[in-house]
Amino acid sequence: MIRNNWKKEEIAEIYYRPLLDLIHEAATIHRDNNDYSEVQVSSLISIKTGGCSEDCAYCPQAARYNTGVDVQALMKLDDVLDAAEKAKAGGASRLCMGAAWREVRDNRDFDRVLEMVRAVNEMDMEVCCTLGMLTFEQAQKLKDAGLYAYNHNLDTSEENYKSIITTRTYEDRLNTLHNVRKAKLTVCSGGIIGLGETEEDRIGMLHTLSNLPQHPESVPINALVAIKGTPLEDQQRVSVWEMLRMIATTRIIMPRTVVRLSAGRLEMTMPEQALCFMAGANSIFAGDKLLTTPNPAFNEDMKMFEILGLKPRRAFKGTERETGTMTEKV
Ligand code: SF4
Repeated sequence: MIRNNWKKEEIAEIYYRPLLDLIHEAATIHRDNNDYSEVQVSSLISIKTGGCSEDCAYCPQAARYNTGVDVQALMKLDDVLDAAEKAKAGGASRLCMGAAWREVRDNRDFDRVLEMVRAVNEMDMEVCCTLGMLTFEQAQKLKDAGLYAYNHNLDTSEENYKSIITTRTYEDRLNTLHNVRKAKLTVCSGGIIGLGETEEDRIGMLHTLSNLPQHPESVPINALVAIKGTPLEDQQRVSVWEMLRMIATTRIIMPRTVVRLSAGRLEMTMPEQALCFMAGANSIFAGDKLLTTPNPAFNEDMKMFEILGLKPRRAFKGTERETGTMTEKV
């Protein structure tokens, strides 16, 4: 059953269950609601890198931190198409294009992004963008260009947000998600663990996501990759057990959402990733880079899929584009 009225205490009761009970329940719910042999494979490219005015404490692309990231202007359309072809050949059904912007501005760069969206959409790939804050009109333009999903992570709980980002508010985040939904784009929104938050903050973030009027179609769960030069450079890596707890809880409270095992996957062994798939993760980022941080290469992932009996999910599965229905189905 899909519920949008979860209480924090109910989510906490799930989250704190003995881990094997939690994984068992999540695996059962996953099998009841989704084709568990399928994994949605996304490829994330940075179409504009570094020099960002925001102060997200985890991010190497913030201009104010000295992280050695080279600032790169907006990519050319042909280069994006090359990257999209490579991603498609590697098994990705979705291309996510990320720009290190505080917000979208109505200028020539945005026009170029719209061109990129149109061109990648024509390749029969799902196109996702993560470009910062967005007005409804801009969301509508992206939708008209063929955008399939918009990523805008909540990152952490409302209570903890100010300790991670001061240059915008939680409400700004929620407003953008509202604009994206209003434009009938699918929503991709999740967060990062290992920022120094409490377990209550993790539960708080899941509470907000699961009580949105409609669950996000995708929820990425990231483990912080601590980058030298950022305020969080000394954060300890989160354990796989913490990732499993987050993934399994997400799967139970949002049974039909695509749960993405995102940043931090490079540090996980194959058996650890297998446990995450068992606990309900059904999406990964593939390709050798996640914006600016390393990630496992496509062929390694396809080998892992073969061993685990998984297969990449085809683009637009169960959507209007494929079947004439409106909702994204797994
Ligand atoms: S808005 Fe995005 S690119 Fe800019 S600092 Fe925050 S996470 Fe990094």
